[in-house]
Amino acid sequence: MAVLVSGGAGFIGSNLCVRLLNMGETVFCLDNLFSSSIDNIRNLQDHPRFHFINLDIEHASHLQIPNLSMIFNLACPASPVHYQYDSVKTIRTSVLGAINMLDIAVQSGARILQASTSEVYGDPLVHPQVENYWGNVNPLGERSCYDEGKRCAESLFMNYHRQFGTKIKIIRIFNTYGPNMLENDGRVVSNFIMQALTNKDITIYGDGSQTRSFQYVDDLIDAMIKIMYNTSDDFTGPVNLGNPEEYTIKEIAEKVIEMTGSKSKIVYLPLPNDDPTRRKPDITLANKVLNGWFPQVKLADGLAKTIEYFKSNILK
Ligand code: UDP
Repeated sequence: MAVLVSGGAGFIGSNLCVRLLNMGETVFCLDNLFSSSIDNIRNLQDHPRFHFINLDIEHASHLQIPNLSMIFNLACPASPVHYQYDSVKTIRTSVLGAINMLDIAVQSGARILQASTSEVYGDPLVHPQVENYWGNVNPLGERSCYDEGKRCAESLFMNYHRQFGTKIKIIRIFNTYGPNMLENDGRVVSNFIMQALTNKDITIYGDGSQTRSFQYVDDLIDAMIKIMYNTSDDFTGPVNLGNPEEYTIKEIAEKVIEMTGSKSKIVYLPLPNDDPTRRKPDITLANKVLNGWFPQVKLADGLAKTIEYFKSNILK
């Protein structure tokens, strides 16, 4: 059977494609390479069960894939720098992309997963965030193209499920890091590692007291596979996927400097608008429905692997 991964050349998508191929699946990777990289899938292109479709998801309504059993819908720029670059396009990608993938799911009967985000909680007033919290999103702000696009996609998924019986799963991904992150996507982990490795200033936005919790990509992929392969059609989610260990951004900066032995110094820059103050997932639901799933990779181990990736792939 075939599996379609939209956004398959991106950071999470490319790690997912590798896992699916290792499981014996035939993988169709749909990507327009806007905020992803052909380098992420270069090693896969000669694989007999890997097929790359270089196409914008907004124009993918005609796509026909034989024996399609599953769709993972990941296509969307996900870092603030990339999703704000062409904000209208970001909304089109989330909303029209979701509609196109859902229509394909209806035609083929495939199970479909929506990669949603902790951003649906906005700047949360409930901590840690549980799935039944509706969030605190500024619908007019600079993050709204992403936040509201993803919220609309969740709504589309639930409505296709209710109206057409589409077999859906919605996951809300919290901050994730690891190999295949883009070095220039402006995210905190990639920024700090690149800055540290090149002895440039480490740029903390605000005073660095805002928190995030960081999940290593392998833990996320484990959960995504479990949700799609091991849960019943009745389970739609949404379900939070993240690592509940919470760190301040200043702690991350200090950890990266220590681990790289860098000579970089920390500088403080203005905090971007609507930057959430705290973020930490409640993963009780995931733990329950995914047979005890819990993130296994410690921050120090995940950072060590990510630093090694940037050293040997980007700065080679
Ligand atoms: N951040 C920072 N310096 C950077 C990049 C990001 O201090 O060079 C901060 C950012 O303001 C936010 C946190 O790190 O508070 C996480 O940012 P990221 O863009 O990685 O993810 P998101 O804000 O979407 O959680």
